[in-house]
Amino acid sequence: MKRIAVLTSGGDAPGMNACIRAIVLTAHRNQIEVIGYRHGYNGLLKREYQPLHPGDVVNIIQRGGTILRSARCPEFVSTESAERAAQNLNDMHIDALLIIGGNGSFMGAEHLGRHWDGQIITLPGTIDNDITGTDGTIGYYTAIDTALEAIDKVRDTADAFERIFLIEVMGRHAGFIGLNAAIGSGAEQMLLPELVDDGNAIDLKQIMRHVKVTREKRGMCSYIIVITENLYPGGANALATKLTEEMNVDCKPVILGYIQRGGSPVSMDRILATKLGAYAVEAARDGKHLIMIGEQNHNVVEIPLEQTRSSKKPLDPYLVEIQQDFFDLVKNPV
Ligand code: ATP
Repeated sequence: MKRIAVLTSGGDAPGMNACIRAIVLTAHRNQIEVIGYRHGYNGLLKREYQPLHPGDVVNIIQRGGTILRSARCPEFVSTESAERAAQNLNDMHIDALLIIGGNGSFMGAEHLGRHWDGQIITLPGTIDNDITGTDGTIGYYTAIDTALEAIDKVRDTADAFERIFLIEVMGRHAGFIGLNAAIGSGAEQMLLPELVDDGNAIDLKQIMRHVKVTREKRGMCSYIIVITENLYPGGANALATKLTEEMNVDCKPVILGYIQRGGSPVSMDRILATKLGAYAVEAARDGKHLIMIGEQNHNVVEIPLEQTRSSKKPLDPYLVEIQQDFFDLVKNPV
């Protein structure tokens, strides 16, 4: 093996740089050249690339974002695009392509794999943690900490004014950030896609009853609801307005938005990214193809790419249960 390529695709996630660094350093140790394609799959189509040497990855382990830039590339779904990408990769004599991204990027990897003979290895890089086959994804741990830091601050002011706050976090299809942010912040209630039955609207009466009774039982106090984006029509803003009207008590929305994507990666993300990045190069060197490199129970695992979306990754049922039990109105008598 002489030359590999790497790209970052889809939503950026803290730790992508740490992963690129590990790939470059491990490749260098194995006398393999590295080419970095810029702007996700767009770089493959437009031949936008740069050689990556160890000197290019100095002091990036602590930086959020991605030095290769990331992007969506809607046109990549076409056969013509995949064929063009394959031709460009062949022209560059690339033996293996390493793709750091989320579920969509993995579908792009499979798509390319149907048109290119080189090896393809993916790495889970997304704050959403919605990839089956790995316990965590690169960027997820930082996103939780970012949400927690913000919610802790909101809690201070909520407490001072004995107010109700709705905090909207990312994760429109998966409640991993929401669940962990709720547990870590001690939020009184969480509204997550997995907990709202298919097609059922959020039960406003139940929410209001919970707010009212919890505050009565525990003394007038602050009350925090963590809600994932897109769960309620109009989002947290609309739900806060509705609750304010219905309960006649001030309810404030806070939308965390893109700050959850940024920031210096926490230790868990740096270490995960480094471990998976180094392993991915070794797997490429050993001829592996169409796999994701993930982590289960602290061990690196190789998962066939198609298995990463064969089933929906579940939330930790024990965490869900204890968050609900702590604030269950029946299980917590006065
Ligand atoms: P995140 O969930 O963190 O935003 P992601 O990788 O899931 O990351 P997407 O926007 O879903 O982000 O996908 C990234 C890119 O992957 C798309 O812009 C497109 O280039 C490619 N892609 C997604 N789905 C497909 C598909 N079915 N076929 C080919 N390419 C795809």
